[in-house]
Amino acid sequence: MPQGNRASRDTVEKVLRLECSTGFLDSAVTCGLEAFIGQHLPAASSIVGGYGKAGPDERRRTVDALLSFLETGVAAVQDAVERSDALDRPITSLQGVGEKRATALRSLGIRTVEDLILYLPRRLEDRSRFSRIGDLCTGEEASVRGEILVIDRRRAGRGMTIVKAALGDGSGFLYAVWFNQPWIADQLRKGDWIDIFGRAERSRGELQMRSPVWEAAEAGSEIGRLVPVYPAAEGVSDRLIRSLIDRHLDDILEEVSEILPASVREENAVSPKREAIAAIHRPSDPAGFEQARRSLAFEELFLLQLGLLGVAREEAGIARSGTGELVDSFLAQLPFTLTKAQRAAFREIEGDLARPIRMMRLLQGDVGSGKTLVALVAALCVIDGGSQVAFMVPTEILADQHAVTIGGLLEGFPVRVGHLTGATKEKEEVTEAIRTGETDLVIGTHALIQQPVAFADLGLVIIDEQHRFGVVQRSAIEEKGEKIDLLVMSATPIPRTIALTLYGEFDISTLDELPAGERDIDTRWVPGSGREEVYEEVGRFLSEGRKGYVVLPLIEESEKVDAGAAVQVAEELAARFPDVEVGLLHGRLSSAERADAMERFLRGDVKLLVATTVIEVGIDVQDADFIVIEHADRFGLSQLHQLRGRIGRSGQKGVCIAIAEAKTEEAKQRLAAFTENDDGFAIAEEDLWIRGPGDLLGTHQHGFLTQLRAVNLIEDLDLMSRARAVARRVHEDDDAKGYSAEVDRRFGELLKWLRV
Ligand code: ADP
Ligand code: MG
Repeated sequence: MPQGNRASRDTVEKVLRLECSTGFLDSAVTCGLEAFIGQHLPAASSIVGGYGKAGPDERRRTVDALLSFLETGVAAVQDAVERSDALDRPITSLQGVGEKRATALRSLGIRTVEDLILYLPRRLEDRSRFSRIGDLCTGEEASVRGEILVIDRRRAGRGMTIVKAALGDGSGFLYAVWFNQPWIADQLRKGDWIDIFGRAERSRGELQMRSPVWEAAEAGSEIGRLVPVYPAAEGVSDRLIRSLIDRHLDDILEEVSEILPASVREENAVSPKREAIAAIHRPSDPAGFEQARRSLAFEELFLLQLGLLGVAREEAGIARSGTGELVDSFLAQLPFTLTKAQRAAFREIEGDLARPIRMMRLLQGDVGSGKTLVALVAALCVIDGGSQVAFMVPTEILADQHAVTIGGLLEGFPVRVGHLTGATKEKEEVTEAIRTGETDLVIGTHALIQQPVAFADLGLVIIDEQHRFGVVQRSAIEEKGEKIDLLVMSATPIPRTIALTLYGEFDISTLDELPAGERDIDTRWVPGSGREEVYEEVGRFLSEGRKGYVVLPLIEESEKVDAGAAVQVAEELAARFPDVEVGLLHGRLSSAERADAMERFLRGDVKLLVATTVIEVGIDVQDADFIVIEHADRFGLSQLHQLRGRIGRSGQKGVCIAIAEAKTEEAKQRLAAFTENDDGFAIAEEDLWIRGPGDLLGTHQHGFLTQLRAVNLIEDLDLMSRARAVARRVHEDDDAKGYSAEVDRRFGELLKWLRV
């Protein structure tokens, strides 16, 4: 490959960083990281071998090794790979683990000895209870001890082999049947006593267990105890993992050292680490297992929190509020008063801004709780003090809308507002005004963090819908000024457990009330066959002069096709409702066309707005009061809730109709949860139950969460807050250094990206 075709070192580094920030999904480049490095950094291709098939932990290490390679050349790579104390030893150093097994184990993220003992079971299976054969009931799961009376191997149809053993224990006979495991017949001998565990069934009058677990009687490792069941993968059975752990646990434990001081452990009911790890893999009862898991979870959370605090509080900040006059006069002329929650949140923000620390605050609240206004008041506070504010939102539509509403609210105030998105025509003038300080407040998309935009004196960055941006982008904007204060907002209320984890370095303010009081929305779920009646009802709404949305999901990968579908539906509805004007909003429109469509809907010229999901985020049209969501099964729960949040915004009664065929059990659960809950936090928690954290959060955040092995994100709220409190205390007492090696070992790679 000629040198000229190679990407620059910078590009390679960017790709690697992107791979980190997206959670090591091998999605940074379309050809896959291995091929990319092979082409552009061939000297490092040995490091990246097998990346596509590697598990998350291994990928993380690989990328880390690649980055050090970029930085310092080959020597450092050797170093990174061989850096090892006892627990960092590769798994191949254990007896019984050859290259082949190691590869399979790596696919589960088990690479080092420590990975192995921190590989936690998914559940416990109670195999401790032995039944006499004569007492077995069909359908019952039990352990049985018996003597092999007959053993038989047979070929059945289609190349299948069946091994069948008759067992007796003096109380009756039981047949153990194994399929396609012919070797079992060689391992069993007539007259041997064995233990088996399985479900008793009756087949053609015979009592039998199919594919039971078995071992020699009284071996006591697979049967006769509470057995931890591990997530397995191709080439590594749950049993293999169990036997590996069993065999090596005692030796490895000797190398495990205690991290938490006894006083902290006592205070928080945390078991000693060795004890906890042993109880996880050799549980004596479910309660002991849970206690052990929580103990390990506490340590993880403590280390993570400590790491996050180290990132956040590294530098002091700048006190940035002005006299307060601007804020006071602004509040005085608002047509409404702030809610109690808004006032409390603003007081917290104001406090942060007035002190010479860096503000890092998450403002969260359900859709419509009035976050934008709080952010605006915070902005005025900083502008009053003489600095600039950047307000970053995830879509152009939202940037346009914020520019209009904020511009309106600020009319008559000495605040100069700029607006910058990818579609802005006078880009040069706008950036120039930002550079000279002529603009006080600039509202825009990620165009704001692109290279040419420089600020005269950027003091505060506000990021709306934080979960839509990656860590990299956040750090990019932070580089635009000095010790910038940061306010991030999230309308996907994150369950507090996760908020405390992901935003551990942030303080949190929550808006827990809606300005217009409780929303009153009647949510219904209608199958596709009811579509006709739905639109008859929409016809009645329209004839009453009401205003609303019809939302279509993104179905195809291509926006073009989706836009096409939206156009078609809009035409259909326009023909159906000739008396009203039907508008159309989708991602392929130019920003002028979008602005026009929004404007006409706002004014009421358009009564029915057909839209793709571009309206999901933040659109604020006060008097819209119905919404029809087509193919609602294609939306996530939180997304559905966001969509519903578009209506009933001034306290009027609203109707939300989700049209969906629930094809899967999960879709059914989701739609049921949607119709039953109207509280955003409850919804987010349901979503977490149904889909797991990956879908609720951005992938980079998910990458973060996968680093936590023992934590149960739904149930460990109490642990989370206690670990955080202890971490804060340690941090404030300046004792954090003692833990920094361990923090680095466990979360170093992740924290590095936050620290950029
Ligand atoms: P969020 O961003 O949290 O979803 P918004 O900031 O869009 O919510 O607020 C929703 C609507 O409520 C906006 O039209 C806003 O002007 C209005 N609003 C905000 N605060 C108040 C308040 N205290 N009283 C009345 N209306 C309010
Ligand atoms: Mg908003």
